[in-house]
Amino acid sequence: MASGDTALIRELIVRPVRVPMPEPHRTASGVVAESPLVLTDVVTDSGVVGHGMVFTYTPAALAPVADLIRNCGPLVTGLPLAPAEIEQSLARRFRLLGTQGLVGMAMAAIDMALWDALARGLGMPLVRLLGGAAKPVRCYGPVGYDGEDGSAATAARWVSRGFTGVKAKIGYPTVDEDVAVIRAVRKAVGPEVSIMVDYNQCLVPAEAVERVRRLDAEGLAWIEEPTLAHDYAGHAMVAREARTPIQCGENWWGTTDMRHAIEAGASDYVMPDVMKIGGVTGWLRAAAIAQAFGLPVSSHLWPELSARLLCCTPTSHWLEYSDWWNPVLKTPLRVENGMAVISDDDGSGIEWDEEAVRRFAV
Ligand SMILES: [Mg+2]
Repeated sequence: MASGDTALIRELIVRPVRVPMPEPHRTASGVVAESPLVLTDVVTDSGVVGHGMVFTYTPAALAPVADLIRNCGPLVTGLPLAPAEIEQSLARRFRLLGTQGLVGMAMAAIDMALWDALARGLGMPLVRLLGGAAKPVRCYGPVGYDGEDGSAATAARWVSRGFTGVKAKIGYPTVDEDVAVIRAVRKAVGPEVSIMVDYNQCLVPAEAVERVRRLDAEGLAWIEEPTLAHDYAGHAMVAREARTPIQCGENWWGTTDMRHAIEAGASDYVMPDVMKIGGVTGWLRAAAIAQAFGLPVSSHLWPELSARLLCCTPTSHWLEYSDWWNPVLKTPLRVENGMAVISDDDGSGIEWDEEAVRRFAV
């Protein structure tokens, strides 16, 4: 493509897949045993293909999200490859319905694919297109809701791979059990490794206050979503009472949710999810808001794309590492000594393993 020409969108190709997890991931809010994903390709008139991927959490949402993305095809084909402009145009189209939930997922899938196509068409990595520089990004490893021994064993495995942070799911029937798991993990990883914990929204605010007061003595890096994600007043109450930083963000739909959470004082740190926050376009806006408020930014899932975006985020904090979707990726994120290493491939670093995509196709 000659520089100066703007490519046009020729078509969207949408493929739902169900990717089994090597091991089911237990949380206080249920078990995740597979990843229902919708893979979206944007094809331009010059034949460039950009990739985007969204996670529908439940297979029940897989076909509806895939249909929604397909139904957006006629709204974007023939338009110039301009992600922020298309975001505005789709936001107007969906204003009366709302852009949370499945609509937000569909818009994020298209946005991710558009940015990938834009960078590939210009022959540059996404980080460079966004004005950033690729650098190593610090990762933490996830630990499931697996009790004292299971959690300690998983945490030790991450540390043996060079990770300097681990995040354990808690929210056991009693706070004593939460503390026992944290202490088992601490014993396994030693004093230098950062330990985060995640309640996955399972407490009411009053109980969350009681529990975080106990957890304050454990030297945790953060306590995540102690109560319902959209109960900003409840989170603010917990954040006021806790000395440990409170972390929220993975369930914010767009920057308006983020704004409301910040205005409420709900969270000391922020961890937008690149899908729910609105794709690359939404992430860039969230990063600017976080910078203005001096809030450290971590990521949620999407390690390949998030690592690149954290390189362009002024208050970058931690990357949440996850290997759940590696089976459909030709080049999953490389991690060396606990740091994500960003390839200098064009685009956002997403390439499908087509054989695996066929195998997991729905
Ligand atoms: Mg979480």
